[in-house]
Amino acid sequence: MAAKLIKGTEIREKILEEIEAEVAEIKEKHGVVPGLVTILVGENPASISYVTLKIKTAHRVGFHEIQDTQSEDLSEEALLALIDKYNKDDAIHGILVQLPLPKQINEKKVLNAIDPDKDVDGFHPVNVGRLMIGGDEVKFPPCTPAGIQEMIVRAGVETKGAEVVVVGRSNIVGKPIANMMLQKGVGANSTVTVVHTGTKELAGHCQRADILIVAAGVPGLVKPEWIKPGACVIDVGVNRIGEKISEKTGKKIAILSGDVDFDAAKEIAGYITPVPGGVGPMTITMLMKNTLKSVKFRLGIN
Ligand code: NAD
Repeated sequence: MAAKLIKGTEIREKILEEIEAEVAEIKEKHGVVPGLVTILVGENPASISYVTLKIKTAHRVGFHEIQDTQSEDLSEEALLALIDKYNKDDAIHGILVQLPLPKQINEKKVLNAIDPDKDVDGFHPVNVGRLMIGGDEVKFPPCTPAGIQEMIVRAGVETKGAEVVVVGRSNIVGKPIANMMLQKGVGANSTVTVVHTGTKELAGHCQRADILIVAAGVPGLVKPEWIKPGACVIDVGVNRIGEKISEKTGKKIAILSGDVDFDAAKEIAGYITPVPGGVGPMTITMLMKNTLKSVKFRLGIN
């Protein structure tokens, strides 16, 4: 039986429509427009294309969007002063600093300078702590893990009591999604195992998973025989495995692959996310959701 596809592209549209409607209501009732600032230092092409998509999405949902582009030679002191300015600006509800930063700037110092109540990326240690505590403490779950959880819930997959196996222990995907899935509450309450490069029996752990979340960055790591029949497989991996000419634009584009052998896995799994078009589109979507949350926290309307 072929698995049901969980398409991030479709779920994104639904969530953005929901956000757009809430933004319109907040504007009407409270006269407040959500403000999101993106600080980009330098001209990294990947960062520019990601930031461009963020801006487009922010405009679509009706946010006040500020794109603050700074030169490659910006000093750390100047960037910290800029963050301080936005921390104090009441029209701004979310602050994003696009990574990577040039080498003269200490990333950790910069991320820690963002007001935790405007840290819509959810990477500030205060927000990592809030996520760990769970429940009402959580303000801004990091965007990719939040997108993964949203996909599982919207696909109607039962998480309560489910065996969840997470492949990868990064601070941006593996650790936070594992933490989120073990909390009490809707879309979680699972029994969670995290596997990584130090794990002895990778296959054996994966074979137990009702929900298998793979974020390793290794194309084809998860073999079809590692998948339990009927399992929900969330493939977070985005790996460039070659180049091709786009039929639409005639330009060279990357050929992307996930961490799971998709063609074989879809014949065994119950649910599966494609790459591209799976988890990828969810990250910016959840960033918009976190910015909306920030406004609601400020207005006390949660
Ligand atoms: P990372 O390199 O920081 O972490 C990868 C983790 O996988 C590590 O903890 C490592 O221990 C584990 N791992 C690597 N090889 C392994 C192996 N052979 N066996 C077992 N474990 C192994 O990567 P990351 O930032 O967490 O990203 C993981 C993947 O997800 C990448 O392909 C990245 O591009 C993708 N990603 C996608 C999105 C998105 O779609 N929005 C967001 C973030 C990351």
